[in-house]
Amino acid sequence: MTTREGSLEAPTRHPVDWRNPEYFDEASIYKEMERIFDICHGCRRCVSLCGAFPTLFDLVDESSTLEVDGVAKADYWRVVDQCYLCDVCYMTKCPYVPPHPWNVDFPHLMLRGKAYKFRTGRISLRDKFLTSTDRVGKLATIPVVVKMVNAANQAPAARALMEKTLGVAAEARLPPYAQDRFRDHVPPSLAWPVRNGARTPGKVAIFATCYVNYNEPGIGHDLLRILEHNRIPYTLVEQEACCGMPKLELGDFATVEALKDVNIPMLAPLAQAGYAILTPVPSCTLMFKQELPLLFPEDPDVAAVRDAMYDPFEYLVARDRDGLIDRNFKRPLGSVSYHIPCHSRVQNIGQRTREALEWIPGTTVNTVERCAGHDGTWGVKREFYEDSMRIGKPVFRRMAEPAPDYVSSDCPIAGRRIQEGLEKLDAAGRARKAHPLTLLRMAYGLD
Ligand code: SF4
Ligand code: SF4
Repeated sequence: MTTREGSLEAPTRHPVDWRNPEYFDEASIYKEMERIFDICHGCRRCVSLCGAFPTLFDLVDESSTLEVDGVAKADYWRVVDQCYLCDVCYMTKCPYVPPHPWNVDFPHLMLRGKAYKFRTGRISLRDKFLTSTDRVGKLATIPVVVKMVNAANQAPAARALMEKTLGVAAEARLPPYAQDRFRDHVPPSLAWPVRNGARTPGKVAIFATCYVNYNEPGIGHDLLRILEHNRIPYTLVEQEACCGMPKLELGDFATVEALKDVNIPMLAPLAQAGYAILTPVPSCTLMFKQELPLLFPEDPDVAAVRDAMYDPFEYLVARDRDGLIDRNFKRPLGSVSYHIPCHSRVQNIGQRTREALEWIPGTTVNTVERCAGHDGTWGVKREFYEDSMRIGKPVFRRMAEPAPDYVSSDCPIAGRRIQEGLEKLDAAGRARKAHPLTLLRMAYGLD
């Protein structure tokens, strides 16, 4: 068999074998870590992506043998802790991913390590709290509670206490909770006739996501306005729980499965009825498109949902190719610095948001495709906050370069972190943060 570096084919991804008892066997985990770490040590091309690779290479370089066999197994966990499962090394960098016989899947190795840590009880209360987005969001948006929570999140004394007791970095800005949850205020769609295109279903179901429901409902309303403007009938998914991505990042497969058991019975009938399902947060979209199908490869309903799931701009651009999008924009946006988050990149859909923003006359788009460093809950943890801001710094600088009118990211959390980074570098200038869906709604002249 000829072994060549890289492949001209798209990488294949093996299902996660988490139900096999060997998956949680410590000796087997160490053996696979040593094998893959050794390949990475010989390659080193991912050194600039995140903290996991420099941590590994420093351990090797400081070991007595200068090889992976000189690194203490207990130190392997330092590499695992630095990975926030963005998937970029697998999807964009590594030439040794399957079908290459070396079969390197670094993120899934890290996931296995995290799952082992979770199973063996080495997870903090802080991590369990931060990843309970649905439960915390429900509590924090209770009308009498929401003002107190938002005030506490801004109060230095409360944040100092939170850092001490929970390990949430006092300096990290936390998104405020909304007074009105998105799902409680979705207006019914007008009864537009369903116009299926060659590439797109003509009716849409919206999976709101925890973040849009509890933190930034305006993004969800912007999506509704755009659909309405383009005469696309929509419905809200009747009931939803967290997509499970935060729990996956913790290695908590049991909770991921419990959340899947709430969501998939709601989503699968919509997929089977011919709806396009849109999720306005890239990590949640990726969860349904990639992670759940890899965890539950035998489940036909999970596969049906995967096939019906769209990033909103993936849908809108495909809809445009079907000739069914209004290109009559009323308001130029000027200069937009647009960031493509990791979980959009790894969906392999191309730069659909950039394409849509470039439809708008009087708009120039400066595109930045690099990790902004927030990565789910990782970037607000006390021990990783500084690393996270360092990883984001090149993004903050490049976003600031054209002195833009707007800074924007498909990931609303990355958008907030970029705004935070720009202000810390004193480089925000006149730039306002706006989600790409907000920008599109504004360009249509919809207030
Ligand atoms: S998945 Fe992302 S964070 Fe993890 S090792 Fe790869 S590039 Fe780094
Ligand atoms: S993940 Fe692949 S590309 Fe990255 S350092 Fe390891 S072997 Fe090299």
